[in-house]
Amino acid sequence: MAILTLDHVTKTFTDSKKDIVAVNDVSIDIADGEFLVLVGPSGCGKTTVLRMIAGLESLTSGEIRLGGAVINDESPTNRNIAMVFQNYALYPHMTVRENMRFGLEESTDISDADIDRKVRETAELLDISELLDRKPKELSGGQQQRVALGRAIVRDPAVFLLDEPLSNLDAKLRAHMRTELQRIQEELGVTTVFVTHDQTEAMTMGDRIAVLNGGELQQVGTPLECYHTPANQFVAEFIGSPSMNFFDMEVQGSRLISQTVDGRFEYPISDETREAIDERTEVVLGIRPEDIDVTEDADGFHTFEAVVDVVEPRGNENTIYLTFDSDTKTPETFIVTVDGFMQISAGQPVAVHIPEDAINIFDAQTGETLRHRILTEDLSVTST
Ligand code: ADP
Ligand code: MG
Repeated sequence: MAILTLDHVTKTFTDSKKDIVAVNDVSIDIADGEFLVLVGPSGCGKTTVLRMIAGLESLTSGEIRLGGAVINDESPTNRNIAMVFQNYALYPHMTVRENMRFGLEESTDISDADIDRKVRETAELLDISELLDRKPKELSGGQQQRVALGRAIVRDPAVFLLDEPLSNLDAKLRAHMRTELQRIQEELGVTTVFVTHDQTEAMTMGDRIAVLNGGELQQVGTPLECYHTPANQFVAEFIGSPSMNFFDMEVQGSRLISQTVDGRFEYPISDETREAIDERTEVVLGIRPEDIDVTEDADGFHTFEAVVDVVEPRGNENTIYLTFDSDTKTPETFIVTVDGFMQISAGQPVAVHIPEDAINIFDAQTGETLRHRILTEDLSVTST
């Protein structure tokens, strides 16, 4: 059962010159207790979606329902929704304790003793008990982040909205806060919409991911569904790092012919793939870096000669940039990830095996997925 529903939600801002459609016909059902990550590049409408849910921005059209009731016209304070902003927005002249008490004093009529207890408990949960008498300027970024979170938690809301809450933290603290936030959310069981532009946060934190681009919803699914069965080329490229490799291919009978490297990458396709392509004459072949095998022998089926351009060792694995076209000074490369112990160096000729099970085919014009990799596992199951 959905506790929070966005039903054909659209937001148009009217500038002096033109209309900007910031959010275009977005529908998402969010389940009670779910951790939904709303992800997409900067400017795609993420903050606008959150602000509409919080009641800080009106809808141009559509409906938002909380627990079944339409809340379009409800004031922010009556929504029982707490939002944590990217810049924390703490009151600088107040102590941590006062910052956390403030929202409660304003919006509820619970007793002073109860407020104290709630603040104490929340501070413990967030491990900031020692900081209660400090002012925000005496805190590190990570501590301020926790206080901002605490201010939302004490209100005991039905829904948390978090707008890029980790983006101002350094890499190590960010990774730590990722797991902390998941622990806290699980402990509280509060329905959460978490906004980020970082696909790693989306993959690691979400029960489900909603991918947004240009105000339009691209896909909603578990992290693994979005990763292995992307709805289109945008999702395929956005989710995963290093990104999926793409090749522009011309369809000739039961072969896909690379448009850029003359004769050196011609990919035979099965009847099933051929059927998925239908009448199209141009498609994009997509393959993830870990799905390409580097071998010695170029004689096998779906195996091609290539040359190593650059090797980036990462310890546990190597990121290898390969090219089909070693004649050019700045060749077009594709990425393969291999075991960190594999001995491989720039300039080396190799063979790459691109198994048909693992390829994705996209419509060259619309980006729509025509076939994704073949899967045996059920990806709809969430990790929690
Ligand atoms: P994100 O949070 O994904 O970076 P936003 O929701 O902030 O994106 O913005 C989406 C689009 O709407 C952008 O093009 C932005 O410039 C525009 N926008 C956001 N708020 C306003 C506003 N108050 N007035 C006009 N345009 C806005
Ligand atoms: Mg934003």
